[in-house]
Amino acid sequence: MNKVILYYNFAEVDNPDNFCREHKRKCQQLNLFGRVYIAGEGINGTLGGAVEQIEQYKQYLWSLTGFEKTEFKEDEVVECPFVKLIVKTRPEIVTLKSKTPIDLTKEKGKYLDPQEWKEILSTRDDIQLIDVRNNYETVVGHFEGALCPDIENFYDFEEWVDRSNLDKNKKTLMYCTGGIRCEKFSVLMEKKGFKDVLQLHGGIINYAKTVGGAHYKGKCFVFDDRLTVPIEEEQKEPLGRCAISGIPCDTYINCHNMDCNRLFICSEEAARKLNGCCSESCMQSVRCRPFDAENIYAPSRKWYQYYGENEWLDIRQKRQKQTIQSEKGK
Ligand SMILES: [Zn+2]
Repeated sequence: MNKVILYYNFAEVDNPDNFCREHKRKCQQLNLFGRVYIAGEGINGTLGGAVEQIEQYKQYLWSLTGFEKTEFKEDEVVECPFVKLIVKTRPEIVTLKSKTPIDLTKEKGKYLDPQEWKEILSTRDDIQLIDVRNNYETVVGHFEGALCPDIENFYDFEEWVDRSNLDKNKKTLMYCTGGIRCEKFSVLMEKKGFKDVLQLHGGIINYAKTVGGAHYKGKCFVFDDRLTVPIEEEQKEPLGRCAISGIPCDTYINCHNMDCNRLFICSEEAARKLNGCCSESCMQSVRCRPFDAENIYAPSRKWYQYYGENEWLDIRQKRQKQTIQSEKGK
């Protein structure tokens, strides 16, 4: 059995480069895959691996000064949903790019635990509820009545707040996938004059694990091969729509034309019709990854996972010849 963990901790890291090097070595030793970002403000990661190795990793992180209390969200999975390991330093562990200085190793916002969150949403008197995730995430699932800004990157949220008509005196609730974006954003909103800002502790993932799916519609988007996860066992009505046929659907696919690679919601029927591409023109591309009719939603990989370099050149040349011939024939 394998596990996926999701975690972050805002704790001071004196020398991110050294910390990063050692961290990478540890993850390689434990045969873990996934993504870990390290900055002067802390660590943010999602990793997958064998249950025992994941446990060892948690012990390792807890043994580091400042990281003793790191919380992990865990999920059992049959297959590890990552193929690579990326451990690298970044200016911020979650990129907000705000000019307002925020030091989360020293300042924190206010939290609601899942039970309190559920209660407030049941009575919902006079609150404004903000989903602090990107548009492609909220479209497949979100809390009832949430404002879901049409934004593609977290760092565009500040501008959105600045031009929004939000009431600074109203109780403001916010949530994201695992909590990290709210940690930063709630402090920023307080600095902008919002009087009562509350964030969902541990995000949607923790809420689903603790109290289930009450007040939540659809699925939860995750940044690994699974793309979406159900938030309770009982299947919910899909919230999204197939980009091609328009039927209710919440399964994402990457366009099989590797030059496009667009992430879009795609029904099984539409995927079969266009061989996993987002349009007829993408379907004509010479750089299409093979469409696996047996496994339509297989995660997309780089081209070298499908073709060796020589084989790939061969395919390209053959296809180019075909195109030239068919054009001559016209
Ligand atoms: Zn495409």
